[in-house]
Amino acid sequence: MPRILLHVCCGPCSLMPVVHLRDEGFEPTAFFFNPNIHPADEWKKRRDAMREVSEKLGVPLLEEGGPENPGLWVRALHGVTREGERCALCYRPRMERTAALAAEQGFDAFTSSLLYSRYQHHETIIAEAQRAAALAGARFLYRDFRPWWWDGINLSKELGIYRQKWCGCILSMKEALLQQKEAEERKAALKAEKAARLAQEAEERRKRHEAFAAKKARKLARRKEGSPA
Ligand code: SF4
Repeated sequence: MPRILLHVCCGPCSLMPVVHLRDEGFEPTAFFFNPNIHPADEWKKRRDAMREVSEKLGVPLLEEGGPENPGLWVRALHGVTREGERCALCYRPRMERTAALAAEQGFDAFTSSLLYSRYQHHETIIAEAQRAAALAGARFLYRDFRPWWWDGINLSKELGIYRQKWCGCILSMKEALLQQKEAEERKAALKAEKAARLAQEAEERRKRHEAFAAKKARKLARRKEGSPA
């Protein structure tokens, strides 16, 4: 059975790659190596989630390194901080180390759970994996795991695997927090708009009732004035 070193970025994204590699007759070994996850607590949560997947799916897991200093990472970008553009430099060390380990340990090929995510830059991952394969003299096994996106989400929920809220780096964390803040502000503005509309409708109803009561009172008064003493 061909042995595949599967680079894994987190628990949820590793599920479908493990399942489908096995379906194809491969024997995957997971490899958690993700120095660019911030903060350190988050890195630990993802590493622990991967350990849980390893146990639940019975897939061997190799681990290496830890979280690196996010300031050094940002400095190394030399101003190329835009999402997408910066990602190649984040995939690169992960693919290089995975390819090197695959060659060192005699795996038949390597691949990555990054190829499962709809949010990652698929073509850039392929280019970085091919580059790393050529450097290390390893074989890259390309698979597009994205069609199983929803199956992976459902299975991760079913197994109770920790699901992260941002991609990983400090910049993606700030972007996610900003998006969350904007979404909360939009929600609060909609709520305030609805409350103002309801208050206005209530005020209009009150005025209509008042006008109606005044009209009724005038009618009664006229009737009284017209009735015989
Ligand atoms: S957004 Fe994700 S892939 Fe891109 S640099 Fe940050 S952690 Fe890496």
